[in-house]
Amino acid sequence: DAYLEIDGLTKVYDDGDDSVVAVDDMNIDIADGEFLVFVGPSGCGKTTTLRSIAGLEEITEGQIVIDGENVEGQAPRERDVAMVFQTYALYPHMSVSENMEYPLKVRGMPKDERDRRVRESAELLEITELLDRQPKDLSGGQQQRVALGRAIVREPRVFLFDEPLSNLDAKLRVHMRTELNRLHNQIGKTSIYVTHDQAEAMTLGDRIVVMDEGEVQQVAPPQQVYDQPVNSFVGGFIGSPQMNFFDAEVDVDAGEIRTDAFTLPYPEWMHDRIGRGGTFAAEFGIRPEDISVEGLDEDATAEDHATAEVVVVEEMGSDFFLTLENDGVEYQAIVEPNTNLQRGDRISLQFDLQKCHLFDDD
Ligand code: ADP
Ligand code: MG
Repeated sequence: DAYLEIDGLTKVYDDGDDSVVAVDDMNIDIADGEFLVFVGPSGCGKTTTLRSIAGLEEITEGQIVIDGENVEGQAPRERDVAMVFQTYALYPHMSVSENMEYPLKVRGMPKDERDRRVRESAELLEITELLDRQPKDLSGGQQQRVALGRAIVREPRVFLFDEPLSNLDAKLRVHMRTELNRLHNQIGKTSIYVTHDQAEAMTLGDRIVVMDEGEVQQVAPPQQVYDQPVNSFVGGFIGSPQMNFFDAEVDVDAGEIRTDAFTLPYPEWMHDRIGRGGTFAAEFGIRPEDISVEGLDEDATAEDHATAEVVVVEEMGSDFFLTLENDGVEYQAIVEPNTNLQRGDRISLQFDLQKCHLFDDD
């Protein structure tokens, strides 16, 4: 069992006259048994965070507390955490079972206990029939399972995963994502997982931490991050295809949001939340799935309607993916299949005003 506190974690890499703040004053409490996912673009500080927790990186400020104990100065092995990397790094001259057994051997664990753990972990990972094989005779997905096995046999307090699925092809990645979910449900150990892939974060995390440029942007359960992003970075990073953004002017007295592409009524709930009067500039965001097509046409009169020109129609099986344009501004909508739609059509739209966003951050 392990709960973790990341308390004011700051890591500065100082290479002479060049210094990079890789992680900037991070504060997060991680519950025992939680699956926490750090997500953000390349270079935002995810790996540094993980390596700091593992003890592979000396931190500049703050502390890492595991089960109430400040682990400062403890070597990686003393921290009793296991890290799984993107590259599997199996020992090529050892069989699968020897690879899995190795971390236990170096710890001086008796042979029968080692065998038991390797057997149990192999069953859990469904790789029992691979135990006598050599790494070169395994597929990428099988190698990654063995790498997982090497972490699981240790029965660590905490699992740390650094983009473990990034080297797998798309289909296998989705499959292994499901497998990791299943494993976590079975093992129930505190897990900290790092990825640049928002879909992976959404499906794996009990909570996700969205990072940008070393700073935590939002920490919340996936659905909350999706529904209530705290700023346009989070809104744009989470969700695929991406949220549409528009420069907007909010006119509270007129009750209007005037974007550079269309004008919409300023919803009551938004006014209640923002509580600001007058006229102010903001960024308006709406996800492609929250725009729908009312129909071909000209005379859209109701207030929450807008018209747009269809620029591109992409048929994606269960959905149509539209690129639309108003006044030179392009944006996207995912709508129900409608084979009548064609490039050049003028259509009226419905915006789901319950699900739109206003950001004041840029
Ligand atoms: P991520 O894993 O999110 O891609 P990293 O934690 O690897 O990000 O890197 C965060 C920032 O710290 C980046 O700007 C990166 O260039 C820098 N960085 C990482 N490791 C080092 C290092 N050993 N020396 C100097 N800068 C580093
Ligand atoms: Mg990284």
